[in-house]
Amino acid sequence: MDLYTEGDPIADTRAPDGPVETRWDRHRFEMKLVNPANRRKLTVIVVGTGLAGGSAAATLAEQGYHVKSYCYQDSPRRAHSIAAQGGINAAKNYRNDGDSVHRLFYDTVKGGDFRSRESNVHRLAEVSVNIIDQCVAQGVPFAREYGGLLDTRSFGGAQVQRTFYARGQTGQQLLLGAYQALERQIGLGNVEMNARHEMLELVVVDDRARGIVVRDMVTGEISTEMADAVVLASGGYGNVFYLSTNAKGCNVTAAWRAHRKGAYFANPCYTQIHPTCIPVSGDHQSKLTLMSESLRNDGRVWVPKAKGDDRAPRDIPEDERDYYLERIYPSFGNLVPRDIASRAAKNVCDEGRGVGPTGLGVYLDFADAIDRLGRKAIEAKYGNLFEMYERITGEDPYEAPMRIYPAVHYTMGGLWVDYDLQSTIPGLFVIGEANFSDHGANRLGASALMQGLADGYFVLPNTLANYLASNPLEKVEPSHPQAVAARRDVEERIARLLAVNGDRTVDSFHRRLGQIMWEHCGMERTDAGLRKAIDEIRALREEFWQRVRVPGDGEGLNQSLEKAGRVADFFELAELMCVDALHREESCGGHFRGEYQTPDGEAQRDDERFAYVAAWEYAGGDRPVLHKEDLKFEYVHPTQRSYK
Ligand SMILES: Cc1cc2nc3c(=O)[nH]c(=O)nc-3n(C[C@H](O)[C@H](O)[C@H](O)COP(=O)(O)OP(=O)(O)OC[C@H]3O[C@@H](n4cnc5c(N)ncnc54)[C@H](O)[C@@H]3O)c2cc1C
Repeated sequence: MDLYTEGDPIADTRAPDGPVETRWDRHRFEMKLVNPANRRKLTVIVVGTGLAGGSAAATLAEQGYHVKSYCYQDSPRRAHSIAAQGGINAAKNYRNDGDSVHRLFYDTVKGGDFRSRESNVHRLAEVSVNIIDQCVAQGVPFAREYGGLLDTRSFGGAQVQRTFYARGQTGQQLLLGAYQALERQIGLGNVEMNARHEMLELVVVDDRARGIVVRDMVTGEISTEMADAVVLASGGYGNVFYLSTNAKGCNVTAAWRAHRKGAYFANPCYTQIHPTCIPVSGDHQSKLTLMSESLRNDGRVWVPKAKGDDRAPRDIPEDERDYYLERIYPSFGNLVPRDIASRAAKNVCDEGRGVGPTGLGVYLDFADAIDRLGRKAIEAKYGNLFEMYERITGEDPYEAPMRIYPAVHYTMGGLWVDYDLQSTIPGLFVIGEANFSDHGANRLGASALMQGLADGYFVLPNTLANYLASNPLEKVEPSHPQAVAARRDVEERIARLLAVNGDRTVDSFHRRLGQIMWEHCGMERTDAGLRKAIDEIRALREEFWQRVRVPGDGEGLNQSLEKAGRVADFFELAELMCVDALHREESCGGHFRGEYQTPDGEAQRDDERFAYVAAWEYAGGDRPVLHKEDLKFEYVHPTQRSYK
């Protein structure tokens, strides 16, 4: 293909071997430690204060390192993680319903459509049990059963109930736990907190990550911050689609700047489309709202059997309804994984059986559950979600079924990291949604919070110590030529954005980019569509640099300037996503290529050719270099995924 070149394969040289259940323990033991007295001499920058970054910064500071923490919100506790609703997985087996570390490992590898690393996923499943203990100790108010034990519920892709939750606001409660731990360390002087600061460049000195260039978003001041190691916990890039369930501020800039400096970007095309979101209602929208997957515990998904049936849902008799997930996937029913449920919704809508004014919607109906359990029980479990739905749509979900449709939600791709969560730039570690590590081609519900906290509380503090102990570094000042050059790049870029002085808003470019991506790199991709998208993205990017209008200046608060920088990076990422999607001539998880499907419309993997992680190296412009990391499956053998 003329759009990229292929380089040498890449190996995860830090991955341990031996029996999978002993790998993390042995690896941890073999890693070097930093003596407590030496920790306070070492500085670690952590970009991001969501569940990944917040937990990492608090833990590292607790251990005695000097931590500098950054976020672009006005408070660390407003990171996007606060939006997480439904829950967090852990293999506690409190229900005695057959769960185990091995089953969580198995479900996750299978759920990811055999495109993740077994070693990483096993570690995640092991650590999951510690996370719950840690959070309970912090006072996170998980839901409890009558007897006082922690309650659990089901999420997609699992037949056990392993999801711990705090009503429909699990992310908020978990983040408050991490935030309190972080605040404590801020109070003790171990964490230097820099809210409203945006990282705009990575500083690499002698091939190691040694700092970042940040802009104070209130004063416009640019500064260079140095450290012994840098941790990116900057979240996902779903907002490349403009409309997504992510918070409006979520962006790729921190990761993309690191990519341009040498960090490989892995599997950028793996995007999660969540099946249960409030449908798009018109052109005015700038964001979409998730209705948590937890609702599929009790809600039943259906459409009318007949095309174009526009009767009110309660007027459609039972035998004229198609509970299509229960029909097609009797074993998992409404709790099939997200990629499967999303595609099924698209299919019934494509058949002309979608509901609502646009025909792009399906029902999520609680009538049976309300009859069975009573309204009070439903209110206790999902009250805040029902209220949110009613506020947005004006419809009462206790009386009429919700209308839902798939929307962009999460990105499995991210910066490539080895088993130690270190990127291809030594000293640059990447955690949480910003890395690609554990979910393969499709993340199971309630596993993002698990991964972010596993990385931040339990994995990184060990692996980072090993790096710091193994690599004593000279102190580097912001006056180092490479740091000065990084800062100059930031200043020139800001000046360039302001100088265009065109006639089109940043948002209009972002919205158009999102339309291109949704149409050609969204729920279904094809060779022709992706090639078209690449041409359109390139043309739009060129137009952006000629016509974008960024009012104001760089000397103070300027939201257009912030957005312009982020959208400029989204353009480059979008192109890489399309190239990645084009080169992967198979369907797997969230990556569905129209040309590669089974006779009954399921994703058709090609393990012979594509059982690898695609790690892309930035090559200065239009032709990225592909490095393949082969995936080996010793414990969960790849099969055609079936939830029937
Ligand atoms: C509506 C919704 C509901 C969800 N519900 C669930 C759920 O129930 N269970 C589940 O497991 N997952 C859920 N998810 C997914 C989950 O919330 C996220 O994947 C996870 O919270 C990401 O955490 P993070 O710490 O990696 O990043 P984030 O929480 O996105 O934090 C990113 C941080 O990086 C900072 N940052 C980014 N770029 C820069 C920069 N350039 N300079 C400075 N700072 C920067 C931000 O300020 C922020 O502090 C949900 C997602 C959404 C959208």
